[in-house]
Parts: sequence; structure tokens; C-alpha cells
Amino acid sequence: TQDFAGLKALVTGGASGIGRATAELLAARGAQVAVLDLDPSSVDKPLLGHQADVTDDASVRRAVAAAVADLGGLDVLVNNAGIGAQGTVEDNDDAQWHQVLDVNVLGMVRTTRAALPHLRESSHAAIVNTCSIAATAGLPQRALYSASKGAVLSLTLAMAADHVREGIRVNCVNPGTVDTPWVGRLLDAAQDSAAERAALEARQPTGRLVSAPEVAGAIAYLASPLSGATTGTALAVDGGMQGL
Ligand code: NAD
Repeated sequence: TQDFAGLKALVTGGASGIGRATAELLAARGAQVAVLDLDPSSVDKPLLGHQADVTDDASVRRAVAAAVADLGGLDVLVNNAGIGAQGTVEDNDDAQWHQVLDVNVLGMVRTTRAALPHLRESSHAAIVNTCSIAATAGLPQRALYSASKGAVLSLTLAMAADHVREGIRVNCVNPGTVDTPWVGRLLDAAQDSAAERAALEARQPTGRLVSAPEVAGAIAYLASPLSGATTGTALAVDGGMQGL
């Protein structure tokens, strides 16, 4: 189906994992898609790669302006760039807190600020933020990461309220454990990565990790006119992990 025909989308963190799967799905559904990433060199046509660091406001403004110029407008912003952190409050120092909050929370603020004037011109404007079940699940060893995603959830609700009357919808997805290069890096760092993967899969109610295209599907739904009356929601994509 071509439910994104004529729509123009920008995906941050779109060179890898969930962002990449989202950019590819939106393009397959007919959207024109630009990707903003630290390193967009792996992004191929028809996706349009733009280099930016979401912690650098000037680079975000430049990349969003260039992407909007390439696309000829903007209907959909997927705020997806993010980084992880492990540990309790005793394990991460102030510099790590500032870094993760800068990427995961302020990064979304910067791209949204740069994109809003363009989204206001659209008649199908939607923002989808990649949050996490960590926002509400109370996961062990994830104090900083959970706090950053808790902020993303609150930010999503606040933005939804602020912009609904302008015709801009704002929702988020809450993925569980998704099989992306990020999780691959965590497994590679383990002593026995095959055993660690098996343990991780055993913790999933479905017995397997969530796939990046499955998260992309939820993002695409929230970005598409099919969800035109939905704003201020968090859609779990966690294989049933929530509530366990
Ligand atoms: P990933 O590492 O595969 O991809 C993240 C992308 O973001 C990379 O291309 C990276 O270059 C980009 N990025 C990172 N910092 C950036 C910055 N400062 N500026 C611009 N781009 C930057 O990770 P992923 O697993 O696809 O994660 C994507 C999002 O999904 C993140 O927000 C993450 O918190 C969230 N998430 C992931 C999981 C999971 O299990 N993988 C679960 C829940 C939520």
C-alpha cells in the first residue's frame, strides 16, 4: 500500500536499527524520506542522508533545513536518535547523565524546534518519538536510561497538548528489547554472547526479541493519516513484556 504517498518524512538516528527500518518502511509505503544521523554514509537512495549531531543545535538546524529543502516540505518527524546507559545511580557520573539526557531528551527538543515551523505548513503533520518500556517499567540497572525515557514520555504528552490545535499530532512508541546493532553491541560485550542472547530471549514472553521492522510498523501507524485522531499516546511494542 502507498499510504504515505506524497508525504515527506525525516527520521533521526535513521542510519541504524529502528530508525533505519522506519526510514525504509516509510519509503516503501510511498514517502520521501530524509535521514539525520551522526554518520549517514551507509544510507542509500531513495533515502536522503544528512549529517548532524542532535546534541549540537546549529548542526540540527542546518540538517533539518537541508532535509526540508530536499524534500520540499515536512509532514512527519520521527525523533528516534538515542543512546543507552547501564547502571544504578551510583554507577553513572554527572558527565554521563548530561551526555545521555543531552542526546535522548534535548536531542528531540532540538529537532522538534527546528521542524515545527515546517510541520505547521502540513495538513498531515505527525511527530513520533522513540521512547522505551524503560520509561515506566522500573528496570534494574537502567537508572539514567530510564530517567531519559521517562522524560521522553512526559515530553510526548506535553507536546501533544501544545500542538494539537495546530493540527500536529505527537505520539511515542515504547519498544521492549529490539534486535538492533545496539543490542548486538551489548551482546558482543558479554563473556558468552550466545548464552547472553539465549537468556535475553528467555526473558521475553514471546521467546524472541522484537524486530526493528515491528517497531517501524508501529511508528508508521502513528505517523500515518490512519491514526489521524490519535495524539498523546504511547504504543507498546514489547512482545508482551509490559506489566510483567
Ligand atoms: P542503534 O544504535 O542501532 O541506532 C541509533 C542511531 O542513532 C545510530 O545510527 C546513531 O548513529 C544515531 N545517533 C546516536 N547518537 C546520535 C546523535 N547524537 N546525533 C545523531 N544521531 C545519533 O539503536 P536502536 O536500537 O535502533 O535505537 C534507536 C532508538 O530506539 C533509541 O532512541 C533507543 O533508546 C530506542 N530503543 C531501543 C531499544 C532496543 O532494544 N534496541 C529498546 C527501546 C528503545
